[in-house]
Amino acid sequence: MIIVQLNEAAVRMRSILVQGGLVVTQNATREVVEADVLIEDGRIAKVGKVRGSADQVIDARGDIVMPGLVNAHTHVAMTVMKGIADDMPFADFLDKVFAVDAKRQDRDIDAGARLGCLEMIRSGTTTFVDMYYSEDVIARAVEDSGLRGVLCWAVLDQRFTTQKGVPLDNCKRFHAAHKGRRRVIPGIGLQGVYVCSEETFLGAREFALENDLLLHFHLSETRKEVYQHKDKTGKRPAEWLAGIGFLGPQCLAAHAAWLTINEVRALAQAKASIASCPVSNMKLATGGVAPIPEMLAEGVNVSLGTDGSTTNNSLDMFGEMKTLALLQKSNRWDPTVVRAQQALDFATCNGAKAIGLGKVLGSIEAGKMADLVILDGRSPNLRPLMPGNAVSNIVYAGNAGDVRTTICDGEVLMLDRRMITLDSGLVLAKAQEAGRALLGP
Ligand SMILES: [Zn+2]
Repeated sequence: MIIVQLNEAAVRMRSILVQGGLVVTQNATREVVEADVLIEDGRIAKVGKVRGSADQVIDARGDIVMPGLVNAHTHVAMTVMKGIADDMPFADFLDKVFAVDAKRQDRDIDAGARLGCLEMIRSGTTTFVDMYYSEDVIARAVEDSGLRGVLCWAVLDQRFTTQKGVPLDNCKRFHAAHKGRRRVIPGIGLQGVYVCSEETFLGAREFALENDLLLHFHLSETRKEVYQHKDKTGKRPAEWLAGIGFLGPQCLAAHAAWLTINEVRALAQAKASIASCPVSNMKLATGGVAPIPEMLAEGVNVSLGTDGSTTNNSLDMFGEMKTLALLQKSNRWDPTVVRAQQALDFATCNGAKAIGLGKVLGSIEAGKMADLVILDGRSPNLRPLMPGNAVSNIVYAGNAGDVRTTICDGEVLMLDRRMITLDSGLVLAKAQEAGRALLGP
């Protein structure tokens, strides 16, 4: 434990100078400027002309420098379950995924988490919000990878779970063992109204308020879940959650696809955030399109997530930004709905705000945590490149393969497409082995 702390301190001591890139700052005025970025002790020390040098100098001339992306909803350990349940009705999908999930062991959860972390580093994500059981196993992978993970232990009523013991107690134990760490941030992950009682929701809320934790939950992903809940309680899920006093600023609702305007207003009033997962919703054909324009008009903080690899099937936030913007435009017959700048906001500063870190994360500004990625300016799909089209290029023309370098918390995780923290070959081999064991040939 002491060794880990010393290593972290040693890494943070280092200064890094990212020289001469086109910096998409995501600051309050959304400036895009040609500038150097100086990182000291894990924080951004300066954005502008930097005289002098640093322990490490990274040449970013001609490249885009942007904040690390925030994936606000995923199940990273499911990355080894990719492709097992494609192109099938939702009920069959659930049967298939639950059957495989019930067989899972720590070893393949670890292999899946590492594969997911590798994919995220390569695709420019530096922070992610995860919901699963066995987050203690996932935490080790996250710490080794150097990413920042808000790890939300899955909480549901005991009669519905395969977890040993009471899920909320397991979540509390995970929190006690991991609180205060730098890049692993424990949270609470409520699976949804279909498996969580009022008592479970309110017990989780009480624990979240006592310990300042994120309350992450699935909300109104499918029409069936909405109407089943209405039959049972007389209220739609978000209405019901507002009614029992659950909603608040620490809430981050994933999907939020089937909402009425009154439910959108309830989320806004509670200062809750949502994580839209457009690819997952479209692939499962659950029909709902999150009412993003209404959410923005009412003041809901909108962020973006990929969901897990059984429903997406990638963790690529570039694809997610573009898909969200296109889906909203197409659905509303209105190309002005969700502009490129808004899509980028969802994946950066809004994501940071959704996890309670808006003041210290999500933009490239002096004093903020040094999470940034460098996109290869030699990628033909990113050219021509000027301050005026940089954001558009990122959202509509960018892809995961453009990411050259990924820095999280002032530590370089990938440099010029070379992995620093994880051993790619080993991660891929273990994932292959785990995939075969779980899924067959
Ligand atoms: Zn999910």
